[in-house]
Amino acid sequence: MSTQTDVLIVGGGVSGLSIAWWLAQAGLPVEVWEADARPGGKIESHRQDGYLTERAASLLMNFRPEVTEMVREAGLEEEKIGRSAIAESRRYLWHAGRLQTLPMQLGSMIVSPIWSWRGKLRLLAEPFLPAGGHEDESVSEFIRRRLGREMLDKAMEPFIAGTLAADPDLTSASAALPRLTALERRYGSLTAGILAHRLLRRRTACRADTFSFHDGMETLIKTLAATPGVCLHTRHRLLAIERGRDGWEAVAATPLGERRIRAKELVLATPAGVSAALVQPLDVELAQLLNGIRYAPIKVVHLGFDRAAVGHALDGTGFLVPRNEGLPLTGNLWMSSLFANRAPAGKVLLTAYLGGARTPGVADWTDTRVVDETLGVLRRVLGIRGEPELVRLDHHAEALPLYHGAYQARIRAIGERLEQTPGLHLEANYRGGVSVRDRIYCARTVAGRIRARAVQAEANLKTAHALSGLA
Ligand SMILES: Cc1cc2nc3c(=O)[nH]c(=O)nc-3n(C[C@H](O)[C@H](O)[C@H](O)COP(=O)(O)OP(=O)(O)OC[C@H]3O[C@@H](n4cnc5c(N)ncnc54)[C@H](O)[C@@H]3O)c2cc1C
Repeated sequence: MSTQTDVLIVGGGVSGLSIAWWLAQAGLPVEVWEADARPGGKIESHRQDGYLTERAASLLMNFRPEVTEMVREAGLEEEKIGRSAIAESRRYLWHAGRLQTLPMQLGSMIVSPIWSWRGKLRLLAEPFLPAGGHEDESVSEFIRRRLGREMLDKAMEPFIAGTLAADPDLTSASAALPRLTALERRYGSLTAGILAHRLLRRRTACRADTFSFHDGMETLIKTLAATPGVCLHTRHRLLAIERGRDGWEAVAATPLGERRIRAKELVLATPAGVSAALVQPLDVELAQLLNGIRYAPIKVVHLGFDRAAVGHALDGTGFLVPRNEGLPLTGNLWMSSLFANRAPAGKVLLTAYLGGARTPGVADWTDTRVVDETLGVLRRVLGIRGEPELVRLDHHAEALPLYHGAYQARIRAIGERLEQTPGLHLEANYRGGVSVRDRIYCARTVAGRIRARAVQAEANLKTAHALSGLA
C-alpha cells in the first residue's frame, strides 16, 4: 500500500506528538508513525494497588508561555494537578551523612550549614567577577569560575546528575544550562542577570508552574495522540527513507506487512542512534554526528510504604545525592508528597533513580540488587522500618542523551547538514533540552518552520499556475 501525506512524523514520544499537535493547530494534516504498540515513548504512567508511578517524566516545570498555551488549548487545564505546598517549599540534599535542607534563596544560603563561610563569601563575590568562559566550557568549569567549588559539589553536580543523568565535568554548560550561561553573556554576571530578570518578569514572562496531571503524565500523551488532524499509527517501525520526486518516501514494518508513504516533509523524532541509521544512506556526515551522541542508562525504583513505616516527615520534593557522598542513588522523589493522589490514603510513594553517567554499571545490576541497594539507602536516610508493600522497577537502557563534549558545535553541525537536506527535520530530546517543557517549546519552532515551507510551496505553485496560464 502506498499513500501520501503532507507531513510524516516518525516517533510518537512527546517530541513527535507535540510537533503533530502544533501542526494540527495550524491546519496541516499529519501522520505519526510509532514503532511501539503505544504512543508516549519514555513517558508512561502506571497504576497498581492505588499507587500511580511514572516510568520517566513525573512532572513538568514550566516557565514557557507555549506550554501554557498547549495545556489550555488542548483542554488540559482541568486535568492539571499542582505540586503540593509542602513539596514546593523544601528540597533536601544528602550531605555529611544526613539530610539537610537545600537553600532556595540567597538569604537562606547565607545561614545554611551546608556551605562553609569561605563558600558563602565566594558566592557573594559573583557579581564582581569579570565575564569570561568559552563555548566548550563544561558545567564544572562554568560553576567553579562563577560561583566556586562548593556550589559545584553541593548543588550543581547533584542537580546535573539527578535531572540530566550527566557528568558536569563533561557536560557542555551552554547546552545544559542555556539560561544561566546566557545571563552571564548578557548581563556580565549571574546575580545581575537574575535581578534584571526578576524585574522584567513582573511585566512579561509566564509564571513558573510545576505540575503533572491527575492521571499522570500519560494524560498529556493521550490528549496529544487524540488530536483531530493527527493520524497516529502505532506498530509502524520506520525501516528506510529515500528522497522522492516531491519530498520523501518512507517504508515501515507493520503487523500487516510493509507500508510505504510519500511525504512532503519528514520529521524524525527518534533517538539519535535510530535517526543516524536512517539518514546514513543519505548523509554519512550527519549520521556520524548523530552517532556521536551518547546516552546514559537509568533504573527507576518505585517503593510504596505504609506512612507509619517511614520515620522522616517527607516534607519536601525529595533529596539529591552529591557524587562524593558515595551512595548508589542520584536522587529520590517523594511522589506522594509532591502530588496528592500518587499513593492510597495512609501510604507513601518514593521513587529513586540510579545510574546515569555517574554509575553506568547499574545497567548490569540484577533487579534484586537494584531494589536491595535502594532499600538500604532509604532505610538509612529516611528511617524506614519494615518492608515496602509496592515494588516496581523501570529500566531505561538509553534514558537520556548526554550533552557531553563540544555539544553546541555538534548541534550546530547537525543544523548545517540539515540545511543541505530541505524537508528533513530532526527533533528529539538530544536537541534543545530533554525536559517535556523544552520538547513542547522546540516542537513549536519546528512546526512553524514546516508551516512556513508549506505556505511557500503553495505560493510557488500558484505562481507556476499563473505563469502557465500566461504562456
Ligand atoms: C527516568 C527519567 C525521568 C525523567 N523525568 C522527567 C521529568 O520529571 N520532567 C521532565 O520534563 N522530563 C523528564 N524526563 C525527560 C523526558 O521524559 C524525555 O526527555 C522525553 O520524554 C523524551 O521524549 P522524546 O519524544 O524526545 O523521545 P522518546 O520518548 O524516546 O520517543 C521516541 C519514540 O520514537 C520511537 N521510535 C524509535 N525508533 C522508531 C522507528 N524506527 N520507527 C518509529 N518509531 C520509532 C520510540 O518507540 C519512541 O516512542 C525524564 C526522563 C527519564 C528517562
